[in-house]
Amino acid sequence: MAYEIVSSCVNCTACESVCPNAAISAAQSQFVIDSSLCTECVEAYADPQCASICPIEGAIVDELGDPLNPPGSLTGIIPLVAA
Ligand code: SF4
Ligand code: SF4
Repeated sequence: MAYEIVSSCVNCTACESVCPNAAISAAQSQFVIDSSLCTECVEAYADPQCASICPIEGAIVDELGDPLNPPGSLTGIIPLVAA
């Protein structure tokens, strides 16, 4: 199991140093998670450390593509849902 950083990452670097497994590194255009190293922080922490510090909603997703910080979770602004 591993999480993934998607293109909305703004390269703030915050997640890189908090990962207990050194799974996060800078790539060409954004930070990336090495799936062979990411343990989803299971057993090490109550919450995934990268998602806990990431300031961008939706930048880190699970294996289903669901954001760990969904829209509204950080800003408190619930997005309008298209009718
Ligand atoms: S979930 Fe944990 S182990 Fe996986 S990349 Fe994020 S901080 Fe690292
Ligand atoms: S904390 Fe979020 S925005 Fe910052 S580098 Fe990591 S994934 Fe990208």
